[in-house]
Amino acid sequence: MYTLDTLPFKNCFAQLPAHFYARVAPTPLENARLLSFNAAAAQLIQLDPAEAQNPNLVAYFNGERAWQGTQPVSMLYAGHQFGSYVPQLGDGRAMILGETQGWELQLKGSGPTPFSRGSDGRAVIRSTVREYLCSEAMHGLGIPTTRALCMLISDEEVYRERIEQAALLVRMAPSHLRFGSFEVFFHRRQYAQLTELADFLLAQHFPELQHQPEPYLALLEAVVKRTARLMAQWQCVGFAHGVMNTDNMSILGLTLDYGPYGFLDVYEPGFISNHSDHEGRYAFDQQPSIGLWNLNALAHAFLPLLADDPDEAVEKARSALWQYQPEFDQAWLNGMRAKLGLQAEFAADQALIAELLTNMQQNLVDYTIFFRRLASLSRQPQNTDTKVRDLFLERTAFESWVEHYRQRLAQEDSLDAQRHTQMRQVNPAYILRNYMAQQAIEQAERGDAREVERLLKLLQQPFTEQVGMERYADHPPAWADSISLSCSS
Ligand code: AMP
Ligand code: MG
Ligand code: MG
Repeated sequence: MYTLDTLPFKNCFAQLPAHFYARVAPTPLENARLLSFNAAAAQLIQLDPAEAQNPNLVAYFNGERAWQGTQPVSMLYAGHQFGSYVPQLGDGRAMILGETQGWELQLKGSGPTPFSRGSDGRAVIRSTVREYLCSEAMHGLGIPTTRALCMLISDEEVYRERIEQAALLVRMAPSHLRFGSFEVFFHRRQYAQLTELADFLLAQHFPELQHQPEPYLALLEAVVKRTARLMAQWQCVGFAHGVMNTDNMSILGLTLDYGPYGFLDVYEPGFISNHSDHEGRYAFDQQPSIGLWNLNALAHAFLPLLADDPDEAVEKARSALWQYQPEFDQAWLNGMRAKLGLQAEFAADQALIAELLTNMQQNLVDYTIFFRRLASLSRQPQNTDTKVRDLFLERTAFESWVEHYRQRLAQEDSLDAQRHTQMRQVNPAYILRNYMAQQAIEQAERGDAREVERLLKLLQQPFTEQVGMERYADHPPAWADSISLSCSS
């Protein structure tokens, strides 16, 4: 176990040539305090969780204390935002300190960088609590994501739609490279840099592909598949990211950059979590196709790496992209089968799932609560069926579907107890609903971390019912409808 003083840093990314980043120094926040420390993430870097009490912790992460071995940098990237190419973005408020135990430690909200484009380089408590909790919730759900080590709050005022207090998130990922990190060099026609970055990625994160006959093609295929599986996991759990611009797409297939995200309450395929997304480009049901659209932008940027002959390069890029849909379909279908407690694979399963989703939509059924309650349904019709049935506006909608479901369960001699256990391992009791985050935010803005801590603990074990936490497994309160989320963070 390390302490903050002994944590060993490597700086592989910062040792690349300077065209990939800018060297930066954090601007300390005014009167910064630790709001919450995540022992689970600390373990990943072998940092002693007792360091939460280290009086120097805030000084280290707030940039007030020189940190042995770190070389803070902000990454350069570009990206397609809402469909249009923006030639330069970059970390406008984030700084990678360095890597330790295979994890990059990144400050988010640490002040302006050369990529800030006139903005303040800060993050507010609201967005920081939301990212802190959701990244850990996603990890608890078994979905690849960046992680969160701790968050600081401060007395510094920042201007958004109103005056808010600045905060800082310390997040972690094996790499924070995005699709946009590659796009920028392609669009600048800097193919040597593009190659250098791809080589770095291969060496650091895909060493098994380095010796393939066509490593760059293999790399692209790997990203295609990881992204397809990530999209399937989002769809299965009911997560809407909200801002799937290519600068928010992790090259490692992690959920990255939590902004105006949302989990489905009632099953609504067209759900738009980001109220600034008027067209619904990033609506819940658009995510799988946007995943492919974004990969298309990445594949475009990869063209110079795939072959000297342009036609041949396009052919290879296409062949990689063709793998997306089957990978997504397979992962989604398997994910949905698991949610229903189905082990065998039958062709008719797809229709069974489609019938369910249509019914859920028409009957305003809460997505998460439905599957959790279904995990108690017996193979034989029973009085307890009402628990699931009552979620539907019209009982006949449920009854006709459940008859098909029971016929299907009979086809594989499904045992209730066993199936129930398995279903509870994939259907969470708890997700981070917006109103829950909202309550934690309001307390955090008063300097009270208790709700943040409670939710962190709860969401790290979302499949286990926890005593005294029943309300969080229930429907959201009526006031939750009035919460409005935009990109501003
Ligand atoms: P996002 O929509 O949060 O993914 O951010 C898009 C771009 O804007 C990224 O390049 C961010 O670094 C940058 N950005 C967002 N908020 C700020 C801020 N407060 N100060 C500087 N840059 C920011
Ligand atoms: Mg972003
Ligand atoms: Mg962001």
